Amino acid sequence: MGRNIHVARSIVALDRALLRVRRAGKVALVPTMGALHKGHLALVRQARRRAAKVIVSIFVNPTQFAPNEDFGSYPRTFAHDLAELSKLEVDLVWAPGADVVYPQGFATRIVPEGPALAGLEDKFRPHFFAGVATVVAKLFVQCRPDLAMFGEKDFQQLKVVTRMARDLDLPVRVIGVPTVREDDGLALSSRNAYLSAEERAVAPTLHRVLRGCARKISAGAPIAKTLDEGRTVVAAAGFVIDYLEARHAETLAAIASAKDGPIRLLVAARLGKTRLIDNIGV
Ligand code: AMP
Repeated sequence: MGRNIHVARSIVALDRALLRVRRAGKVALVPTMGALHKGHLALVRQARRRAAKVIVSIFVNPTQFAPNEDFGSYPRTFAHDLAELSKLEVDLVWAPGADVVYPQGFATRIVPEGPALAGLEDKFRPHFFAGVATVVAKLFVQCRPDLAMFGEKDFQQLKVVTRMARDLDLPVRVIGVPTVREDDGLALSSRNAYLSAEERAVAPTLHRVLRGCARKISAGAPIAKTLDEGRTVVAAAGFVIDYLEARHAETLAAIASAKDGPIRLLVAARLGKTRLIDNIGV
């Protein structure tokens, strides 16, 4: 294990730690919900490369979960997370309780539009982006980072946060980091822990289908037909599909032909009780 890592759990402790951290130069923030895996650690490494000091926040944000979702069962592995972060020489861990982020009487929400209304995650998790935007705005104001790292794994979220920071003149540069995958292509996710052995064997289908569709579309195949075929393969593997779509890689607007701009393919599907998402560029 690396050196002892500094953990702040109250605003007062955070402010005191920031006095020290901010003196050293640029500060990067990596917001997470804990249950850290190699995808999160890639964000931390990127942060290390680009900033003098790195703050990782660990907060399972209740407001981005609907009542029927997995807030209660979401994996919490705080001791393990701290051990991993201290190996990477993270300067500060911001781990507030829910009562610190949402004290009694809390009554403000940021409701993002634009990429947050693309008809992708927002269609299936209508509460999600207001929860994310509100907590991320708070994390930015609390930690005052110069840079913030977000994974392309959550591609729509990356667009929403980027837009929000710009729209609210928050003085932070949002940086996207490519998705880290298992050897078989499955995107790392804290939720992969929910998969049974059988489901885990099937799960890489999502990435395989994304790659197949991307290859066909870049070779000139019609988008709608290619995605229809992809949906058939995903469903045949045992998934219930929420969406498999081709969108403009910047605006997330619907796209009819490869000429309409850089394309991102995005998928969300449920395998048993686990909901998985993934995306790739064409
Ligand atoms: P989470 O803890 O799931 O909210 O994720 C925290 C951050 O890690 C988000 O910016 C995610 O997009 C990012 N992330 C999650 N999984 C991966 C992955 N497999 N590769 C890269 N970034 C990831």
